[in-house]
Amino acid sequence: MNGMERPSVILNGAQRSERSRPAMRGCFRLRTGFPLREPDASPAAQDDRSARWTSLLASAVLLGMVLMTTRSLAVSGGRMTYAQAKARIPERQLPGFWVGGVNGLAARFDALRRGTVTVIAVTPGGRPVHLVAYGRREETTRLANYNSAIGGREPAAYMNKTARKKPVVLFIGPVHGHEVEALTGLANLIQIMETGKDLQGRDQTALRQLGDRCRLLIVPAGNPDGTARFEPEALQGMDSNDLRFWGQGTWKDGAFCGWPDCKRQHPMAGGNIGFLGCYFDDAGINPMHDEFFAPMGPEAPAILKVAREEGPDLVVSLHSHEPAPALLRPAYVPAEVQQDIRSLAEKCYALLAHRNLPHADPFEVRSEGGRTPDSFNLTSALHHICGAGSFTFECPHGLRDGCQVTLEQILDIQLTLYEAMLQHEIDKKD
Ligand SMILES: [Zn+2]
Repeated sequence: MNGMERPSVILNGAQRSERSRPAMRGCFRLRTGFPLREPDASPAAQDDRSARWTSLLASAVLLGMVLMTTRSLAVSGGRMTYAQAKARIPERQLPGFWVGGVNGLAARFDALRRGTVTVIAVTPGGRPVHLVAYGRREETTRLANYNSAIGGREPAAYMNKTARKKPVVLFIGPVHGHEVEALTGLANLIQIMETGKDLQGRDQTALRQLGDRCRLLIVPAGNPDGTARFEPEALQGMDSNDLRFWGQGTWKDGAFCGWPDCKRQHPMAGGNIGFLGCYFDDAGINPMHDEFFAPMGPEAPAILKVAREEGPDLVVSLHSHEPAPALLRPAYVPAEVQQDIRSLAEKCYALLAHRNLPHADPFEVRSEGGRTPDSFNLTSALHHICGAGSFTFECPHGLRDGCQVTLEQILDIQLTLYEAMLQHEIDKKD
């Protein structure tokens, strides 16, 4: 849809093999130029060998310089061209359980047997935003919108959530298009709800049983325009410069927009934009920071409408970053909601630790303040529209200069979070 050529992709999942490839190429080139022979002790032969070794050394140094220059050119001064970014995409075919793009998503959802699929929005780029639901919806009387109900000191006037038998849990996939770790996680969760197995074919009966005890609302891709622009389809094994290029994009002169500077122009549109980062839909809207009282794009309002109409008990906005997995402190929500999410974080981190997966430390509950307080973002808005416990989860991309995890570990981190979330809400009903 954006006229960019898709990368040719050749399979080789492992991070280590990607990292060792340039060195192996170098060895191969040096060997072909200097075939091995039997040793010869004559002075002429020694001079010849010496000259060859000098030449070999010079070639090696030259090769090293070329490799370093290629690398430093690509990132010098914090800038990168589209051609350089494309050239840095590893030659690999991603494994079948990994879902790093939007191609084939509609067909995947059309084939579902248990889940109910609806299109909740169409993006500026003409792409559908899907909602996949599992479990029957339990209707409750609604007399007021959420903030009026709270004003009336009766949350049940909005929705009597305690009368529902099953918890309602809303999963929001990447609103930052390149953060496809969650798209993979949610595509696997859907597969588990359909078949009891994940896309690796592993038995996930326990997670499916938890899912069956809830109503699940899954928005697998929160910003399909951004995801369609994400040509690497995974940042695992790449580095933070690749993240900057594909994530926040570049200005016209090729300089990285960077984080958080990329938020100082919104929409990200106009003549000063180079590569539009995957944070944004095709109109330059970052759904995490839409204008919630006067919407700029279609994605965030559609997600908020699902929350308003369904009244979930728990909502997660799934993101990715460089360090270890983290449940972030939700901003501008009551202390009790923060405390509830903190207790979920403690349970989730314990599960991750038990599975030898990395994790952050739980956040501290506190109020907003300071010169630059936290923003009121989509996660905050989600709480205020339906009263849900609402939080942002950050998964590692698996960058080689960040929290190093494999694609398989990323999937396990996602599924572990979902398990902790479902159990957390089921425990409240028991
Ligand atoms: Zn994000």
